[in-house]
Amino acid sequence: MEFDLTKPYCFYFNELSKIPRGSRNEKAVSDYVVSFAKEQGLPYIQDAVYNVIIDKPGTPGYEDAPCVIMQAHLDMVCEKNNDSDHDFTKDPLDLYVDEEGWLHARGTTLGADDGMGVAYMMAILASKDIPHPPVSCVFTTMEEIGLLGASAITKDMVHGKRMINLDGGGETATTVSSAGGASAYMHCPLKFEENTKPAYVLKIRGLLGGHSGAEIHKERGNANKIAARILKEAQLYGLDITLVSFSGGLKYNAIPREADVCFVSSAAKEELEKSLAASAEKIKAELEFSDAGFKAVLETAEASQAIAKEISDRFLNFVFLMPDGFRHKSMAIEGLTAASLNCGVIRTDENEIVIEDLVRSALASHTDIMLEQLQVLSSLLGIELKVSDRYAGWAYSETSQMRDYLEEAVAEHGGILMKKASHGGLECGIFKGLEPEMDIITFGPIAQNSHTPQERLDLASFDRSYDILCDVLKKCR
Ligand SMILES: [Zn+2]
Repeated sequence: MEFDLTKPYCFYFNELSKIPRGSRNEKAVSDYVVSFAKEQGLPYIQDAVYNVIIDKPGTPGYEDAPCVIMQAHLDMVCEKNNDSDHDFTKDPLDLYVDEEGWLHARGTTLGADDGMGVAYMMAILASKDIPHPPVSCVFTTMEEIGLLGASAITKDMVHGKRMINLDGGGETATTVSSAGGASAYMHCPLKFEENTKPAYVLKIRGLLGGHSGAEIHKERGNANKIAARILKEAQLYGLDITLVSFSGGLKYNAIPREADVCFVSSAAKEELEKSLAASAEKIKAELEFSDAGFKAVLETAEASQAIAKEISDRFLNFVFLMPDGFRHKSMAIEGLTAASLNCGVIRTDENEIVIEDLVRSALASHTDIMLEQLQVLSSLLGIELKVSDRYAGWAYSETSQMRDYLEEAVAEHGGILMKKASHGGLECGIFKGLEPEMDIITFGPIAQNSHTPQERLDLASFDRSYDILCDVLKKCR
């Protein structure tokens, strides 16, 4: 299998590979797409964050068919092997084909995520002989760092109610649902008091963590919630506990694996150890089949100051009570989480403790209620809640004309369409938010190991998937 540059999608993929296009560095590739539109004589817009939209009328017989939005992202993840001296700000990717017909880039990510989608759209836009309805091709930016380009798209830029997102691989698979979400930040202002009591650090270790979309339903331990539970149980057991600092978790979109909580106590050390061991034993049993590496360690520490007792108690109560983890599952799609939140990060700054929570759900109402619960609990306990970066979800719909077309086209090529659902965020959700009637499919060829230097694209599938895509467009009358 060779990488045949006479095929238009291979040609454009190769051209794209010459242009560095890491997230936030998309101006050059965006300008390249604009110059392509000019060459083709097609109307385009390029917005302030370098998203580009190119429209093309339907071919003869399709002039009055409903417009189909095609969409792919221009940016790519820049990862390379340790021994590679590739400079992602100026070097072209070094493409090669292996013996089994996979396309790679030497030492780096390939950018098939999402160069394949961009190349397909350019091939369709440049085509003279492929029957298709009016198309509006949306090239977005900064997808890989939080769907930022798509988030800047406004309703007037959306030119249809049918959509093919070309950022999903598998050739015979399509996504049918994705999560929306919001970031909740909870601030607890601090006052400190002088301390003379013995100080300790409770360390939570050995947990698996994981992505807060993909892994939240796996009953893994949340280090922040576990630390709060152990200390609250010590208080309920009658022991004096006052916090000095609380820190756990590194990423707002992950399940926290470790936490360190410094506290002071007038209780005898043996009593503290006894209470901690009793809590840890229960938790260990609960996590036996999901997160068996869990351990809790108590170490002595030094602290000349502690958080004022009343504030410390309110904060500990808040973390102990705050809703967390898996909340709802889909009854339409087996194994799909419908709503969750993660208590991802807790950090102690000079004057406050901040909790970062990523709330996810396909239905807006589930995001609403989780935020409302955090709001009510915050106001009861004197914590300040700020919500930002809310984005829409894409809830599963039982009927979809576009999915039917894709199912037919895949079947005509001998395949069976698989339906996937994601509890992560996708650009599709943002378009669904802008146009609630949007009928969406995701599609793309077989590619593997995205976001790593082992990323590779199956060239035979690149050919077949293009044929399937053309067949789907042909059905869109
Ligand atoms: Zn992608």
